[in-house]
Amino acid sequence: FPSDAVSLVESHLREVPDFPAPGVLFRDITPLIADPQAFKVLIETIAERYRGQVDAVAGLESRGFILGAPLAIEMGVGMLTVRKGGRLPGPVVGVDYDLEYGSARMELQPFTVADGQRVLVIDDVLATGGTANAAFELIERAGGVPTRLCVLIELRELGGRERLAGREVDAVLTY
Ligand code: AMP
Repeated sequence: FPSDAVSLVESHLREVPDFPAPGVLFRDITPLIADPQAFKVLIETIAERYRGQVDAVAGLESRGFILGAPLAIEMGVGMLTVRKGGRLPGPVVGVDYDLEYGSARMELQPFTVADGQRVLVIDDVLATGGTANAAFELIERAGGVPTRLCVLIELRELGGRERLAGREVDAVLTY
């Protein structure tokens, strides 16, 4: 991504220690999306990079929705929602995966995905990669082709890129 996009994200982030649990440094993108100019430029920059290469955007609940919807509009494609278990009316496909403590589930309505559709997965932060990995699997099970993951922030030491081995991952900022 161009260096002005990188500094745009960097200058509009809040780092919140011990949220939502002790020991977690939370990367808060709310200042970025609250700034109309910064948000617009960011979405235009991301759209520029993928325009013509994807047929849909899949946002990961919930901050992936905030980024995904304007991005889909800007690129002229549809928006898919990959949601936490139990939130979407069926039929759904679902994947359970392990978290550091406990487990989680993500779901997708397969009828929203056209056969062979190229899908860009988007979220705010890549941490362990569990959520994104589930999204890739769901899109494939629904008949789509998840081409890549785009995140604003990649937390390198949490190993998301390794967990997503074989997948294409783009991050605006890496820590
Ligand atoms: P993971 O499945 O571990 O890659 O976690 C990714 C999801 O958790 C994303 O949807 C992020 O929004 C959220 N997340 C994980 N770690 C952080 C963090 N340090 N700051 C903000 N969001 C985070």
